[in-house]
Amino acid sequence: ADAGSDGEEDSVRVVVRIRPPNDLENNRKDKVITQCPGKGALWVDNSTSGGRPKQFTFDGVFGAETSQYQMFESCGIKKLLDMALDGYACTAFAFGQTGSGKTHTITGPMTMTRTPRAVPTNSGAEGTAFGFEDDTGQDAELQGLIQRAFLYLFDSIGQRKRRDPSTVYTLRATYLEIYNEQVKDLLNPADRPNLPVRWSKEQGFYVENLFCPEFENIDDIMAVLEEGMHNRHVGSHNLNEHSSRSHTMLTLNLDCEMADPDDASTYVTKHGKICFVDLAGSEKVKESKSAGDALVETTNINKSLLTLGNCISALSDPKKRSGHIPFRDSKLTKLLSDSLGGTGVTLMVACISPSAYNASETMNTLRYAVRAKRI
Ligand code: ADP
Ligand code: MG
Repeated sequence: ADAGSDGEEDSVRVVVRIRPPNDLENNRKDKVITQCPGKGALWVDNSTSGGRPKQFTFDGVFGAETSQYQMFESCGIKKLLDMALDGYACTAFAFGQTGSGKTHTITGPMTMTRTPRAVPTNSGAEGTAFGFEDDTGQDAELQGLIQRAFLYLFDSIGQRKRRDPSTVYTLRATYLEIYNEQVKDLLNPADRPNLPVRWSKEQGFYVENLFCPEFENIDDIMAVLEEGMHNRHVGSHNLNEHSSRSHTMLTLNLDCEMADPDDASTYVTKHGKICFVDLAGSEKVKESKSAGDALVETTNINKSLLTLGNCISALSDPKKRSGHIPFRDSKLTKLLSDSLGGTGVTLMVACISPSAYNASETMNTLRYAVRAKRI
């Protein structure tokens, strides 16, 4: 794990994470085609699929040995969290083919056995949410960027309050899924299967009737996350297929009010925000397997991913940034338009397999990542 030297000031930061070979790849004795020699460099031996070896440079490249802790410490997410606390809108994505480690990076592996546990709600009443069976043991080590971000945020908020006791944060969360261009509220899944995306002058694009609970502490927000993760699971008949085709988005709204440093009798307010997006698998579904509903879904996913790529690419080009950005072309990009188009930072974690078997998808992922980074 070694971060590249450039990119500190860029509005789009792109890092790559290579997952360890899985059992299937080990059993097949797949050749490992990825190497990370350091300084943000990545070498891919693409010779088995006929291509020449390729060298890439990113803002960071994290090898198979990188722990969840190291990932959080070094991928650049802390900068986004600091900026969100300062009132900017920031977005972190995981991108890559199905099975490349997106969900592992964003939320960590799911514990399959779940027991309901009672958590206190803001009002002091007892609410029911679904928690990890053991959220202090082994699972804690495997927790992803989201849970680590929660801890970091509360820690930072504590420090900021000690520095300036007039500081008041109001924290709210939403958690949604976009499947087949339909928006589902993961915190209120029974309500309506397809919530409309609307636009207003005050809010920009927003999802109508999305549940937006306030949270005050780590238990509150962990319960929100776990409830959403649980609802994502119960709502799908074929989990693998569903999760490979859907985008999930957890948004934390961080509203801050504090005394004006220049005039203590007035208050300044900031509306920061951070989105964590676990994108649909980027693989191209084979034409022959696409029929009926499946074809519609594939088209929509590719449309969302393609639009996202077009938006990020345009945004990373200073000449195009002030021009037309095609946010309106998909629901995902509509909802991310303020984060992506504003003054905050976007972090993209491109997730790849180390195996020769996946070489062509890996090359696709890296090309997409390079495009996002293009100056
Ligand atoms: P995706 O969300 O991209 O489809 P997953 O995150 O579900 O992929 O990862 C697929 C499998 O590989 C899971 O079993 C996951 O636990 C494992 N995995 C992914 N990345 C890593 C990693 N960095 N270290 C260990 N296991 C990983
Ligand atoms: Mg996943």
